[in-house]
Amino acid sequence: MTDGEKIQWLKKGVYNWYNDPTAKAYVEARGVCTYCGEDVFASPAGFWSSGIDHVLPTATYPQLELEPLNCVYCCRRCNSKKGRMDPLEHWKQNGEDVSDPLKLLRERRSEIIGFVKPWLKEKRSRDAEEYEKTTALIRDC
Ligand SMILES: [Zn+2]
Repeated sequence: MTDGEKIQWLKKGVYNWYNDPTAKAYVEARGVCTYCGEDVFASPAGFWSSGIDHVLPTATYPQLELEPLNCVYCCRRCNSKKGRMDPLEHWKQNGEDVSDPLKLLRERRSEIIGFVKPWLKEKRSRDAEEYEKTTALIRDC
C-alpha cells in the first residue's frame, strides 16, 4: 500500500478522526513518536493515547492548524509536556527572524522539531525523577 493509499484509508476509517494533515502525520511517523522516538504502536495504550501535535501551537498560530508541515505524530507524554511551548519564541529570543512562521516550517521544519526534542527530553527527565520519588513515597518503599 502506498503512503497516499494509507492516508486515504485513514480518512475513511470508522472513527472519522483523520483529515489530510493528521493522516499524513500518522503515515509519516510510522507509529513512532516524532519527539522522543518511542514506538507508540507497540501497545494499544500507546496507540490510543497518541495523537497529533502542532509544532507551532495553534493558540499562537491558528492559521497553521491545518498546515501539514505543522502537524506531527507523537506520544501522549510528549504532547502533554509540550503543550503550548512555541519553539519560535526561543528562536526570537536568540535574534532569529520569525516573522513568517509558514516559511520557517517550509525551510527549517526539521530544525524546529530538532529544537523541541531536547527541550522535551529535559522535561521528561524531571518527570522521571518525580515518578521515582512519588511512587516510592506512596508505596512506602
Ligand atoms: Zn514522545
